[in-house]
Amino acid sequence: MNIQRIILNYLSTGIRKHHSLESKQQVLVANLFGFIGYSLTLLLGISAWAREEFNLAIILSIASALFFTSHLLLHLKSLANPYKYSAILLTSSLMLLMMYLVYSGGNNNTGPLWIYLVPPVALFFGGLVKGSIHLAIFVLITSFLLFFENGELLISTYSYEFKSRLIYSFLTVSGLFAFYEYTRQYSFRHIKEMSDTFEQQAMQDPLTAILNRRGMYEKLKQEFSRSKRAKSVVTVMMADIDHFKSINDQFGHNTGDEIIQSLASDFVRALRKQDVVGRWGGEEYLFLLPDTKGEDALLLAEKLRKRIESMRFKHEDKDFGATVSIGVHQVTEQDSINQAISKADQCLYQAKVAGRNRCILG
Ligand code: GH3
Ligand code: MG
Ligand code: MG
Repeated sequence: MNIQRIILNYLSTGIRKHHSLESKQQVLVANLFGFIGYSLTLLLGISAWAREEFNLAIILSIASALFFTSHLLLHLKSLANPYKYSAILLTSSLMLLMMYLVYSGGNNNTGPLWIYLVPPVALFFGGLVKGSIHLAIFVLITSFLLFFENGELLISTYSYEFKSRLIYSFLTVSGLFAFYEYTRQYSFRHIKEMSDTFEQQAMQDPLTAILNRRGMYEKLKQEFSRSKRAKSVVTVMMADIDHFKSINDQFGHNTGDEIIQSLASDFVRALRKQDVVGRWGGEEYLFLLPDTKGEDALLLAEKLRKRIESMRFKHEDKDFGATVSIGVHQVTEQDSINQAISKADQCLYQAKVAGRNRCILG
């Protein structure tokens, strides 16, 4: 249990709260690759040292130090995006090490066997496009090293068949990983789009397409904390259609629905860009008006009320109107979201008691 936590803590180095799920995964894998990179090169370096292959031992030790640095970079809080630098260092150190192993042959000409580590690392960190470009550059340089003047540039000697099969198999592995990366990115984008759509649907009222109570609550939370920080004023208003039950009874539920929709569209048209309106309940609408004083909101409420009063609705051959009552409350510093809404609701109630089709500020 403890070991599991230690490993997880280690692999989570550099993960920040605001990171998306994909960024978190990338940092996790950067830590994993870095760990495998520096421990493996360290072990192979020690073994080369013991065999007294000092050049190889030095190169492996440098590679180990670079892989370890890529892990240390993730600790740096001062960098805006440490992951990016860590990934660049990891990928380029790995490619350089692999070129050296091809060039020198490593231990008994087994060095080139390690180059298959390059495609997954390059594609994971670079993504499909950049990763493929990095791989193409790697293949060009490695092929140049291998085939130039029949291997004049190398210290080791490989047969022509070995060299050509090495490049063919490397290209095959790269192609397979590129395809895998493509499908991974495609599925990730698809799932992300789906989850964004679901999230939006969960905040939206299906009848009117304006925010529902849940969506409105999110906006209220954001705006309340923003206005507290900015020390700006906010006003909330609650509007309710008058005698809606009798409209339903007289003209039917479908006509009632159409009125709820028409009013929502009209409110949206009449509001400023920063204002928000949501459907709070059956025939109730809640307005959130940032940077608006109570008196100014009352003027807006009056404007809305008059617009609704002048609208005409049709049911079969009958022509009729509807009215709304609106409660307006400028949020005070002490108000919680629920308190502010409840005060707007009390003003709405007063407007109803006073005869409906009116707005009250309180
Ligand atoms: P008041 O002036 O006091 O607000 O009277 P009212 O009749 O509007 O108030 P009441 O709360 O008694 O009735 C509200 C009605 O709204 C009752 C309910 O059937 C109707 N209603 C709620 N949601 C919907 C809806 O989505 N569509 C339709 N057509 N009617 C709805
Ligand atoms: Mg009503
Ligand atoms: Mg009501």
